[in-house]
Amino acid sequence: MHNQESERTILIVDDEPDNFDVFEVLLDGEPYVLHYAPDGHNALALLERFRPDAILLDVMMPGMDGVEVCQRIRSIPALQHTPLLMVTALTSKDDLARCLAAGADDFLSKPVDGTELRARLRSALRIYQQHIEIQNLLEKLQYANRELAVFSTRLEKKVQERTQQLEQVIFFDQLTQLSSRPHLYRRLQKTLKKQSEDPNVLFALLYIDCDQFQLINGSLGYEVGDQLLQRIAKRLQDLLRPDDLLARLDGDDFCFLLEHIDTPDDAVTFAKLVLESFQAPFQGEHYEIYVTACIGLVYGFPPPYQRPDAPLRDADTAVRLAKKQGKGRLQVFAPQMQSDHIERLHLENDLRRALHNQAFQLHYQPIWHLASRSIVGYEALLRWMHPTRGMIPPSVFIPCTEETGLIVPLGHLALHQACSQRKQWLDLGLNHAYVSVNLSPRQFSHPSLLQDLDQILEDTQLPPHLLHIEITESALMEYPQQAIEITQQIAERQISISIDDFGTGYSSLYYLAQFPIHTIKLDRSFTQKITTHPEHNEIARAVLHLGQSLQKNVIAEGIEHEEHLQQLLSMRCRCGQGYHLSRPLSPKEIFPLLKEKAAPSDLCNENKLANSPSISTK
Ligand code: C2E
Ligand code: MG
Ligand code: MG
Repeated sequence: MHNQESERTILIVDDEPDNFDVFEVLLDGEPYVLHYAPDGHNALALLERFRPDAILLDVMMPGMDGVEVCQRIRSIPALQHTPLLMVTALTSKDDLARCLAAGADDFLSKPVDGTELRARLRSALRIYQQHIEIQNLLEKLQYANRELAVFSTRLEKKVQERTQQLEQVIFFDQLTQLSSRPHLYRRLQKTLKKQSEDPNVLFALLYIDCDQFQLINGSLGYEVGDQLLQRIAKRLQDLLRPDDLLARLDGDDFCFLLEHIDTPDDAVTFAKLVLESFQAPFQGEHYEIYVTACIGLVYGFPPPYQRPDAPLRDADTAVRLAKKQGKGRLQVFAPQMQSDHIERLHLENDLRRALHNQAFQLHYQPIWHLASRSIVGYEALLRWMHPTRGMIPPSVFIPCTEETGLIVPLGHLALHQACSQRKQWLDLGLNHAYVSVNLSPRQFSHPSLLQDLDQILEDTQLPPHLLHIEITESALMEYPQQAIEITQQIAERQISISIDDFGTGYSSLYYLAQFPIHTIKLDRSFTQKITTHPEHNEIARAVLHLGQSLQKNVIAEGIEHEEHLQQLLSMRCRCGQGYHLSRPLSPKEIFPLLKEKAAPSDLCNENKLANSPSISTK
């Protein structure tokens, strides 16, 4: 590109040397260097060596005329855009058209006028200059485009790499390197699609949930827990068949997706294999750990599931049910379970609302001294006043509150209400009958139990000897050593303890003697068959003996008929409760009865009762 006009060179092609002189004169003082060629051949030869900035070309020349020279010049690529002005005396339109067709840019008519020549040259050079600049810009643009292409190829590669890394994170579990939940989800989606096209495609899902894993994390720490999960993953992976998928869902939950299942038995056989694989201990760095697991099994048989979350949800429901049955269990999903599960969720919601709205009441069932038909105490029993379903018995809602932990606030409420009510009646002169409150296993093992008891007694100002606590046999026997400590601390507070539903669990007589319990409540299943089933009669008799030898009071639950009562009396059973004597009553109903039938103080003092005359052997 020329920056200075002085560098501009102009080639003049004309067969008349005089004309060159004319141009020299006309362009005198202009910033051009003039070169001369006397004909077309000379001009073309010259143009092989140098590139002028503009060409003035005479049209009428002997041999090769200007039009042909023009054509040849334009056929040289480097000269395609060089300004080329034809100088001619011809002015017919045809001639001018021929020149333009040959590639000329402009015309000068002979005789050449100086002003016009200078003006046209300047204009042609300016246009050429602009052309060069545009060319340069285009070149730069092309260069930039090439750079951009290289850059975007690199970028694309980077994006691919990052996508792969991200997929690794999303679709694989980082701890065990097994597939993750999204991966399983995606595979299930494909399987369901295949099934919708071909109903012969059958699959099964095995949802595996390790038992009490939080205990391992809690006692041995998360590091050991993580190592153990890796070992479990490895062991499960060894069972993996080609084309199946094993995923870790979260925590201690794993899931097999088995494809190519022919019959439900195939999946059950595989599930049993998985359960068996948990029989050998897992080797930790410093520990050998035994772990069991429960399995929820779902068959993906037609009619097909619509969405992948549905079989996963069903497998989850099945595994929860398996866990309820104990450790190392297998549960196959049945559609009924889902509606049960939904009903349970409704119940749970209603319960939370009820707790918030204080929709619970206590009813009280008198506990009688059988021989004198007087009342020594009464048991507090929760009732739920449901807005649409009416009164719901505890057998329906207590298990749900126990599982969800709602029993802790609910039990607290019951205890507080029972103590507060008892204190009110004490203030009204009811001095002796005790109130007996049920404690659920979860409440019993709750760390704040003793503190709560102290707080409630403090709040209500109830003398502790008027409070009895009922704990089921199975709750005491789950962790007997801890239970001994807790019951001792309760007894130290002068609160009496009853073993509830006695005979339905597995008591160790060794432990039984060590609990500071005051009363054994013979479960109603024995009372009710006491007159009809000799073996139940024998058990009732044995429990009464046991109570006598361990110096515990015995209350027979569930006395429904006069014959039950007579039989118990003949066995010298001292206390009892049951519909035959009185149903659970509202506070308003029981109060007059208590006032009328409350046993004298010595009968209510159950320590003395525990030493009453011996029980007849027949
Ligand atoms: P439980 O502690 O064994 O209470 C005795 C149950 O037997 C009560 O059932 C009572 O109504 C029922 N019953 C009394 N006499 C008879 C009879 O002659 N025949 C029959 N068939 N049943 C009789 P309810 O009130 O339905 O309570 C059931 C269980 O719910 C209780 O059994 C107790 O384990 C639990 N429960 C009740 N209230 C509470 C509470 O406040 N806290 C806790 N943790 N559990 C409670
Ligand atoms: Mg009870
Ligand atoms: Mg009971």
